[in-house]
Amino acid sequence: MKVIHILFLLLLASLGCQTPTPKEQPKKAVFIILDGIPADVLERVATPTLDEIAAAGGYTRAYVGGDVGQYNQTPTISAPGYMDLLTATWANKHNVWDNYNQSPNYHYWNLFRIAKNAAPALPTAIFSTWLDNRTVLIGDGKPEAGGRLIDYAADGYELDTLRFPHDTAATYILNIDELVAETAGKYIAEQAPGLSWVYLEHTDDVGHALGDGTLMDEAVKRADAQVKKIWDAVKVRQQKGEDWMIVVTTDHGRDAVKGMDHGGQTDRERTTWIVTNAKNLNERFGKEPLPITDIAPSILKHLGMAPPEAIAFEMDGVPFVGAVSVADLRVKRAGDRLQLSWKVFDEAGDAEVQCAFTNYYKTGGEDVYEKMGHFPVKDGAATIPLNAAQWAAFEKSGIIKIVLKAPGNVVNRWLVENSPE
Ligand SMILES: [Zn+2]
Repeated sequence: MKVIHILFLLLLASLGCQTPTPKEQPKKAVFIILDGIPADVLERVATPTLDEIAAAGGYTRAYVGGDVGQYNQTPTISAPGYMDLLTATWANKHNVWDNYNQSPNYHYWNLFRIAKNAAPALPTAIFSTWLDNRTVLIGDGKPEAGGRLIDYAADGYELDTLRFPHDTAATYILNIDELVAETAGKYIAEQAPGLSWVYLEHTDDVGHALGDGTLMDEAVKRADAQVKKIWDAVKVRQQKGEDWMIVVTTDHGRDAVKGMDHGGQTDRERTTWIVTNAKNLNERFGKEPLPITDIAPSILKHLGMAPPEAIAFEMDGVPFVGAVSVADLRVKRAGDRLQLSWKVFDEAGDAEVQCAFTNYYKTGGEDVYEKMGHFPVKDGAATIPLNAAQWAAFEKSGIIKIVLKAPGNVVNRWLVENSPE
């Protein structure tokens, strides 16, 4: 293919023609959250649209909840899950622990804020059956959350009780999902926003009301049909020469007994899934379950956007597209040393270890990172001696933030007091 292409260009050149400059395809992304669908249900029920998207890219199991028993363990509850995705951090950072009375820590920038910071003119949109996603979690319009981040919003319908009278069976939520999916499909086909989020809720309502069973399966099939409206719109835009990434996921599984509840750390509650059309999936994808925090870094990579370094140092996800060097940094104390280990995805080059002995970032301040040395990425491990002053700083703050800067990507991990690691 390549050889033929070069010969063709040489032929054009020899004929005295001007070689046309290849036009970069505009990069666009949309992510969809279908609420509360366990991986085993999704894998069992017929979902032709998700299958078609996965055939273009891939399907993998994923997980929510952070690391069980660790400093970043996060409830398998909806709003914490959305924030995990949006900020690529766990609840110890984004600070959303439940669906109500949230106090998001906006110092951990969300995907829209990072994208708008990188490209202020980037058109953004949200299509959502829950208003809080925009007004509270993203904090759209709040100066402390980065001001106006969403250019077009189709949401808040659940507050319109005239148009959508609330019934105990929550069919009004299904009706809103239909409208949201319809609106998203139409808007994306016509306007092609650079970054958008679609959120559909009905599957979780059915799960809570009825648990596992035929009606839950039917709800999943309907959600798949709603995704088709968006996927069809993406295909329309692809025909126009745009390079689209679509990511579909869920925010938690359900309990293993009846499938009505969630919030805990059992395997079925933690186990989720990711479907994407992305073609340049890396070795990470499909190998073992990926954290939901990988989605935002992957979308940013597709859009060609890098967050500012202080933000990148806090993000707990790794792109599943394109080249990456390392993931899953772990740290433990051994005497007066830190023992680091990580998974290697590209052996090339050295990684630099940096440590901060404060967490001023959490309250809007700046942490000073100390350079602790360079280590071959391929070793997958490093031992870092700390001096008395550094251990004293840890005693005082109760935290060491460790960052591994590898050629392909950056990962971070905390050592905290009483850490079980
Ligand atoms: Zn949920």
